[in-house]
Amino acid sequence: MEDKADIKSMTKPEMVESFRGLGLPKFRADQVYGWLQAKGAESFDEMTNISKDLRSTLLQNYYIYGVTIEKKLVSAYDGTIKYLFRLHDGEYIESVVMQYHHGYTICISTQAGCRMGCKFCATGMGGLARNLHPSEMLSQITTAQRDNDIRISNIVLMGMGEPLDNFDNVMRFLELVSDRDGVGIGMRHISLSTCGVVDKINRLIEMKPQFTLSISLHAPNDELRGEMMPINNKWKVDELLEACRRYAEATHRRISFEYSLIKGKNDTDACARELAQKLKGMLCHVNLIPVNTVKGNSYERSSPKQIQQFIKILEARGITATVRRTLGADINASCGQLRRKQKEESDGNIQ
Ligand code: SAH
Ligand code: SF4
Repeated sequence: MEDKADIKSMTKPEMVESFRGLGLPKFRADQVYGWLQAKGAESFDEMTNISKDLRSTLLQNYYIYGVTIEKKLVSAYDGTIKYLFRLHDGEYIESVVMQYHHGYTICISTQAGCRMGCKFCATGMGGLARNLHPSEMLSQITTAQRDNDIRISNIVLMGMGEPLDNFDNVMRFLELVSDRDGVGIGMRHISLSTCGVVDKINRLIEMKPQFTLSISLHAPNDELRGEMMPINNKWKVDELLEACRRYAEATHRRISFEYSLIKGKNDTDACARELAQKLKGMLCHVNLIPVNTVKGNSYERSSPKQIQQFIKILEARGITATVRRTLGADINASCGQLRRKQKEESDGNIQ
């Protein structure tokens, strides 16, 4: 399979060109592209308006990288669905489907694991296994849509992995997923979350994308942020925020700052004041997330009272902030934990 082309990662023009090499007319590429991208086909056999002979030619030349459902958990509280997906090489990734009043949002993974090593994150603890192909990112969406017979309207790249550490594949995925002949979710319905890979944010600025950029900030100064997030040793808070200002100016899009509140660490009044001062004048919004406790560190959630106090300090200084609603609390909906458990079980490390 490794020597066959990854057909679900091809754009329409690329598929037309590749089919031309096999002597196939353009309308065949239109058909196959529709099956793969719009209908989410996972095998050539599903393509019922294509002859058996042609399907076997496709099978000889191409491979459909996808995901298969290993586990599915549904929250009894709010219907949030969490998937553990298996990839063709035995790696595992996670996705979460959430229902909001305006429709369904899916949180997808961009890598199996992550090499950024943030201290509070279950994904970061296991390191990086590999980058995902665009096809494997698309397949998380098409598989979830088919499995639940729903249309997903919004995407957040906030599952496992650092999207900007898999830059080219993620950009190709965004192009494919927003194509009207495919899944057809527009850029304005997509958010990309990053821990702050500044050189890649600079590349984004040149591209002037229309998706929402979320920055996992989590601390207002280098001392605290450096302790929690190794990426801060490469790019300091001020360098990151300077890139964010340029991004907001170039795209006229509001930046969303993610801030996980950890008791006694980054949730103090002084941190809130420092954060407000650093973000002053920027087109932005702060998303506060009570930290999810993860096996392997001692971080605890802030008290509801301190969370309200934190918001009050930000808002008094003109920075809008909201607390992210906790969805799927009973199924451990934040990413990284299911894969870790699965890995432990298959490695035989379970006691
Ligand atoms: N790598 C990207 C996107 C995936 S992580 C990034 O870091 O932005 C998605 C979000 O979940 C990030 O904001 C991350 O900081 C946050 N996160 C990770 N572990 C968490 C935890 N234990 N509790 C709360 N938020 C967490
Ligand atoms: Fe990677 Fe994001 Fe987790 Fe940090 S928070 S380790 S960047 S997935």
